[in-house]
Amino acid sequence: MSQLRQIPAVEKVLQALGTTELPRPLVVDTVREAISELREAGQAPEFDVVVRDIRDRLTQIWGQRLQPVINGTGVLIHTNLGRSPLSRPAVENLQEIASNYNNLEFDIPSGERGKRAGFLERCLASVTGAEAATVVNNCASALVLILRYFVKNGRDKVIISRGELVEIGGGFRIPDILLASGAKLHEVGATNKTTLLDYEDAIGHDTALILKVHQSNFFMGGFVENPSTEEISAMARRHDIPFVEDLGSGAVVNTDDYAPVEHEPTPQEIFKKGVDLLCFSGDKLLGGPQAGIIAGRQDLVAGIKREPFYRALRCDKLILSLLEVTAVQYLNGGDELPLLSMLSVEKDELRARAEKLAAALAGREGVRVTVGDGLSRIGGGTMPKSTIPSVTLDLEPVGQSLTKLARRLRLGATPIITYTSEGLLKIDLRTVFPRQDSQLADSICAVS
Ligand SMILES: *Cc1c(COP(=O)(O)O)cnc(C)c1O
Repeated sequence: MSQLRQIPAVEKVLQALGTTELPRPLVVDTVREAISELREAGQAPEFDVVVRDIRDRLTQIWGQRLQPVINGTGVLIHTNLGRSPLSRPAVENLQEIASNYNNLEFDIPSGERGKRAGFLERCLASVTGAEAATVVNNCASALVLILRYFVKNGRDKVIISRGELVEIGGGFRIPDILLASGAKLHEVGATNKTTLLDYEDAIGHDTALILKVHQSNFFMGGFVENPSTEEISAMARRHDIPFVEDLGSGAVVNTDDYAPVEHEPTPQEIFKKGVDLLCFSGDKLLGGPQAGIIAGRQDLVAGIKREPFYRALRCDKLILSLLEVTAVQYLNGGDELPLLSMLSVEKDELRARAEKLAAALAGREGVRVTVGDGLSRIGGGTMPKSTIPSVTLDLEPVGQSLTKLARRLRLGATPIITYTSEGLLKIDLRTVFPRQDSQLADSICAVS
């Protein structure tokens, strides 16, 4: 018998699969793909095996949809897990804005066309202590836009210290961004040492701006020397050259008041030091949605908003609404911002939750649950030196391997992301919301 004849028809497989969570057209595509692979190979296993393999594929594809997970890693701004979680008030407001019409570009009193993001820009200026502010898709695009604004009329050189030509993560390299923005990189100094004179000597008729990039995700020790921001800004002013800083992480409050972490410079501080314009991310330490905030001198922000490219990078109503509530929350004292609560929660509180969970999970057959210690980190490429003492739920598998247990926890109804240390699976409770505790317990029960 020819082996080719064993390859089942698409229809037959679809029938055997019955109804699935995955939308029908995606199921049909997947089945067609699998069957054509079998045809290419010229043979097929038993029909049941074919169906099971396809079912596995469907499960895998469905698993790739965006879904909530429990972050047990202790990394607060986890880039793989969506960076900052948003506050309840922001999300509740989003629901209202998203499911109704709204005044995105409509002035209610006059009944005429209104200014997009006018209120938000006012709030962001106030939060950052800037004359003016605006917002685009993310910090990377904010930087591109700033560069495009300044790079023109024969001025295309951007002066930057060799110690700041960094890669932020996800392939975001400062030299590449400069290039993509039509700027010419004018690097000065050495990796570990740049002087004010290095900057000053580089200034010419073709200088567009001086750029400083906050070294978010790495640090240098030993023989390191750089001029202060104040010195650079005073010098830039003497030469009438704009001075811009890419802050990256964007803490607008002193995060070191909330947790024992390094001090992260705030926009307010940076402006006091004389920087003309800065940009930072909306979804790192600010704890908002993905966005790039540009703040600084009124004339510069206004000019940037007139750039044709600005239109291509503008945020939609959903992001604007989330950011608006986040900014208002800061102006009202920062309560209810999940990121700040997670930073400041006391170990005692975490320990009490851990003990309650461990007690509820005592005597499980497949897992021994104890309370342990851990170190939370900020993540998102910020404060690489800082760790915050934390409390963990430690899982020791019984009769199953560590990797198997970790995988089963990921594949549960609500995926739980753990980390491994000293033969244990650990769940850092700092990044697990108290409202997720019962879900966490249920999911652990389901695999033990
Ligand atoms: C994270 C970071 C960026 C990129 O920000 P996105 O909002 O992810 O685009 C740019 N610059 C610095 C210094 C950063 O830390």
